[in-house]
Amino acid sequence: MSREAEKMNKIIALAKNRGFIFPGSDIYGGLANSYDFGPLGSELKKNIKDLWWKTFVRDRKDIVGIDANIIMNPKIWEASGHIDSFTDPLVEDKKTHVRYRADHLLEDAEINASGMTLEEMGKIIGKKGIKSPDGNELTTPKQFNLMFKTFMGPVEDKDSIVHLRPETAQAMFVDFAEVLRTSRKSIPFGIAQIGKAFRNEITTGNFIFRLREFEQMEIEYFIAPPKSKKDWEKHFNNWLEEIRKWLDLVGIDRKLIKEVDVPESERAHYSERTVDIEFEYPFGQKELYGLAYRTNYDLSQHEKSSGKSLKYKDLESGEEYIPHVIEPSMGVERTILAILVSSYKEEKVKGETRVVLALPKTIAPFKVAVLPLSKKEELQKLSEDIRADLSKSFVTDYDETQSIGKRYRRQDEIGTPFCVTVDFDSLEDKMVTVRDRDSMKQERVAIDELESYLKEKLS
Ligand code: ATP
Repeated sequence: MSREAEKMNKIIALAKNRGFIFPGSDIYGGLANSYDFGPLGSELKKNIKDLWWKTFVRDRKDIVGIDANIIMNPKIWEASGHIDSFTDPLVEDKKTHVRYRADHLLEDAEINASGMTLEEMGKIIGKKGIKSPDGNELTTPKQFNLMFKTFMGPVEDKDSIVHLRPETAQAMFVDFAEVLRTSRKSIPFGIAQIGKAFRNEITTGNFIFRLREFEQMEIEYFIAPPKSKKDWEKHFNNWLEEIRKWLDLVGIDRKLIKEVDVPESERAHYSERTVDIEFEYPFGQKELYGLAYRTNYDLSQHEKSSGKSLKYKDLESGEEYIPHVIEPSMGVERTILAILVSSYKEEKVKGETRVVLALPKTIAPFKVAVLPLSKKEELQKLSEDIRADLSKSFVTDYDETQSIGKRYRRQDEIGTPFCVTVDFDSLEDKMVTVRDRDSMKQERVAIDELESYLKEKLS
């Protein structure tokens, strides 16, 4: 097994054993690569989403948030182009009937399928004799729409078909006029949303990299129609910089990041520039985030299709126009995967291997763990008082089982920045030992000063 595959397996095992992420519906044999976030994973996820919201919505004057429905009027998906073209090329193994992405099979055979039509893919599959991974013949490629369908209301007919949104973005366009009216923002300004998206991906896999149910954090940043390339490039480059700062903030290793300009043949026809922010996952370099200049395509489409004005009126110049938009789009689960890969460390300490998740303090599930040295009642009581006090300021864990060494190891593995050990001396001198996750240095701190000591370290 390659070192990369081994690292991936270790991360998956740690995530499962420590209650971050485990297979969903597991007692029923699972459900097609779905994963649930456990007690620590849900804290980590929440911290990431909260930090994103704080960074991009609350700390900025020019961005406001929304929380829209997952199921929206079907006309939205017609206008946005999703009904016609949110598709992937699908082929089927003629024997096993397992379905594959034709472009992925071509890429596996080292053929770049980007920009190819279905016919071209079919021809190459035939000419090169490309088979399914099980060695069987493949059907000719056809388009497969990735949107999940369901019915709304009690009647199951074609008029009641609705879709689960495949991206959060469209709500920002559909709600544009209402948000503008109520927030009284002026251009340039953005609308942000965090929420679930669903894609009936032909193949899933690589742990939480490609899921059918996942979360996105997206911003539509509206700008005036550019008079020259420079006008939109300025905003585009600002957003590239914002994404880089965000990567640092959540502890994603920038050495593993590649910014890839998507060639015109692979871009959506309305996009003038798209940069894929790719990450070197243990299974290869793949997309983490996307940044796209989508011109005024979406708002124009929705204005045409709904018959409602989605124009912006510049109060100073009196000019009316449909704004253009820059879209940074980020997946929550891919963020978590990139953070886990970046922060997983193995160190040799006194001949033993110490596993540490060097998570940034802001997103670590627990900030502090209170550990009484033994289960003696007087230590328990003091420790419990300390825990109750600290929990007013920090998310705090309490653990009194197993040896102190094992408890430190557990806290290192889940990324807790500080452990507070309460021992018998603490009863006399009213001091505790604070251990730093990264340096493993220990310091005696007065219980009275513990909260301010930790506040300073965690700020
Ligand atoms: P890919 O090429 O990997 O399928 P995409 O280009 O279709 O991704 P976008 O439509 O740009 O992805 O979606 C925006 C973001 O949503 C992605 O950058 C990624 O972080 C996330 N995302 C997209 N599809 C999935 C998925 N199936 N599972 C998890 N996250 C996803």
